[in-house]
Amino acid sequence: AVFSAKAYDRTYFDKVSSARFADLCTIEYHTFSLSEETAPLAHSCDAVCVFVNDTLDEPVLRALHAGGVRAILLRCAGFNHVDLLTAETLGLFVANVPAYSPEAVAEFAVTLVQTLNRKTHRAYNRVREGNFNIEGLLGMTLHGKTVGIVGVGRIGLAAAKIFRGFGCRILAYDPYAGPEFTSELGTLVELDTLLQESHVVSLHCPLTEGTRHLINGTTLARMKPGAMLVNTSRGGLIDTAAVIEALKTHHLGGVALDVYEAEGELFYNDHSGEIIEDDVLMRLLTFPNVLICGHQGFFTREALTEIASVTLSNLSDFVGG
Ligand code: NAD
Repeated sequence: AVFSAKAYDRTYFDKVSSARFADLCTIEYHTFSLSEETAPLAHSCDAVCVFVNDTLDEPVLRALHAGGVRAILLRCAGFNHVDLLTAETLGLFVANVPAYSPEAVAEFAVTLVQTLNRKTHRAYNRVREGNFNIEGLLGMTLHGKTVGIVGVGRIGLAAAKIFRGFGCRILAYDPYAGPEFTSELGTLVELDTLLQESHVVSLHCPLTEGTRHLINGTTLARMKPGAMLVNTSRGGLIDTAAVIEALKTHHLGGVALDVYEAEGELFYNDHSGEIIEDDVLMRLLTFPNVLICGHQGFFTREALTEIASVTLSNLSDFVGG
């Protein structure tokens, strides 16, 4: 049996599982997140199937293991939220979905940039009130501008290709860049050069101890005045307090976040009905040139289908030993 700690993608699991997994397992769907409190509810299950905002720290993993759970199936690419050392010590099978739809996230990063840049969200709010005034909605033409991509893995590469389509010059920083990032697409540079020359900086590297607060007071100061920052990777890449300072001084031209530093504590309580109150978030939202979404870059029909399919293949690998 599988305990799944989120249910909005159930339709996609049902579609795949009814065809391929009916004899293999029973899937229990739950809408709440996995935590120390909810972990005991998985005790009748062999595997738990979780997302980025479920807690998978040592106490939760130990509680799951004590209840008989032997596999952790991640319905996401990132695994920075999993205590892998404890999982290994306990002999838990852990599998993620490394590349369900890089294009879905890359397209969303570009959407955020252009929404923020052309202020379509603000225009729409005005028009809804019968106000067709375009004052304050001035944007920049992306064509000919420099876009800095931090991390040219699957998503960064897809984003670079889309920005190339807009006629942008691409700079990339990635200490481990593969041959897929060609000189036709852009130029690999040091982080400093990328920050100094880019009109838009888009983050696509994983969150690790080495990349935590990669964007901080020092690196923000190196950015071009008026440049835009977009993060669809992980909230912890950015020192949010430093971003607020850079917005206050108008050094940053705009910030678009699909992921947020305190996301784990704040978001994904959509089923609880709880009102989110967070000082930093509220302060960020007072700036007109800030756009924040609740981690939806992956959220396309195609990506969910692929996530369901790969997760269930991972389950099959686990069951098959
Ligand atoms: P990936 O592993 O294919 O690519 C990551 C790239 O970052 C690699 O090329 C790697 O060499 C590079 N990198 C590693 N350390 C770096 C550093 N210090 N500086 C610069 N680059 C560095 O991963 P991906 O599939 O492209 O995903 C990127 C990130 O996007 C994931 O880590 C995940 O956190 C995030 N993500 C977000 C969503 C969403 O819904 N918003 C969905 C999927 C993934």
